[in-house]
Amino acid sequence: MKCIKCSGSTVAGTTDHEFNVGIGRQFVVTMPASVCEGCGDAYVNFDVLGEAEHQVARRLAESGEPTGASFRFMRKTLGIPAATLAAELGIAVEAILEWEKNDLAVDPATWLLLAGMAREPNGEDGEIRRLLRAHARWRSGEMPPDPGPIRFELKRA
Ligand SMILES: [Zn+2]
Repeated sequence: MKCIKCSGSTVAGTTDHEFNVGIGRQFVVTMPASVCEGCGDAYVNFDVLGEAEHQVARRLAESGEPTGASFRFMRKTLGIPAATLAAELGIAVEAILEWEKNDLAVDPATWLLLAGMAREPNGEDGEIRRLLRAHARWRSGEMPPDPGPIRFELKRA
């Protein structure tokens, strides 16, 4: 590809990208990029940037620090709208927005839930998301009044 800025040619290289997550600590990720031989500008593939964001979210989850900023970053990276999360949990969307805005008193259980999702290899389609959606169905009254017994067979190992 040609550089958009100076029309110079680009070569495969790396670039450092900073993520300012707002927890008083910066994340610097070295990632593959097309680097301009002329002006040095770096071009990062959209998928690469997305993967880097997910890796930052995983590390935020590991930090164990339940701040509004880390909550917001993980939620956005997972692609979960605040309203959706609020509906799935049965809490007010305003609560989520307050945690994220004021960066204090984030409900630890909700933060841990999000951290668990951020740690899952398949993120938004992971086990925790599935459990949340099941809970949301239960909340919404979609379940039949008498669903009957849950039957399954336990196989020998
Ligand atoms: Zn250039």
